[in-house]
Amino acid sequence: MQYFTTKTELVAYLSKITKKKTIGFVATMGALHKGHLSLIEESNKKCDITICSIFVNPTQFNTASDLANYPNTINTDLEKLEQLACDIVYAPAIEDLYENEEKAKEFDFGSLTTSMEGEFRPGHFIGMATIVEKLFNIIQPTIAFFGQKDLQQLQIVKALVKQMKSTIKIEGVSTIREENGLAKSSRNKLLSKNAKTEATLIYNCLNYCKNNKKKGIVELKHYITHQFEQHKNLKLEYAEIVALNTMQPIEGWQRENENAICISAYHSGVRLIDNIIL
Ligand code: AMP
Repeated sequence: MQYFTTKTELVAYLSKITKKKTIGFVATMGALHKGHLSLIEESNKKCDITICSIFVNPTQFNTASDLANYPNTINTDLEKLEQLACDIVYAPAIEDLYENEEKAKEFDFGSLTTSMEGEFRPGHFIGMATIVEKLFNIIQPTIAFFGQKDLQQLQIVKALVKQMKSTIKIEGVSTIREENGLAKSSRNKLLSKNAKTEATLIYNCLNYCKNNKKKGIVELKHYITHQFEQHKNLKLEYAEIVALNTMQPIEGWQRENENAICISAYHSGVRLIDNIIL
């Protein structure tokens, strides 16, 4: 496995080896778990070369404390990637990707960014798009793999490549969960065992929606609010049923598999998000 900390070295290496080879790219912020690793596996299957970036992107965090508390496990991350036969890891310092004092670029993704994560994490998506665009320009992958766990992000990255007029293909990969249903997340490390068990309420509510679509959107949202009111350790931030193509709340169902129920909730100060396509 090749390990680079500067884009100059990475680009020099790629320019020598990538003639006619397909490049799969997985962007991560480290603290790797099975969810991330499933993206690497998908890339290994579909591309000749897999590149994983590990970079905790400051412009997509809205609070300094969230950024400061973000887990850093670079050594075990590298071991996991080596075991999976990831070809290249790019783990730069901030200075390699941002000029001094550089802020997020201004993007306009229309309705995709105004609801849910866009509403509760102002600036998050322009920060995310800023770094993804930089990484795409450096790596120029054939396919980039993103988790469906961050559904709104996935839809925005698809819009980003259109705006970039790029040929990069974006593939969404299904969410990997703990045995009890809780979506794998780097933030789960910050939860106690008991908190992880209680947090399965999120998945149970998503599943309830999947199995009870007939009840209609208003009743399903009411059900979720009621469930969270009964579980005082969990604080519901939002539960929205949205159209996949707009990421905006809907009042009536779109076609099958073109709707999603998305939840954000806090347990012991840790913010958790999850969704299911309906
Ligand atoms: P992050 O390190 O949180 O920025 O995530 C890097 C990539 O891994 C993103 O494309 C995420 O959507 C994806 N990812 C995170 N958690 C999961 C999961 N549980 N299952 C599948 N993909 C995931």
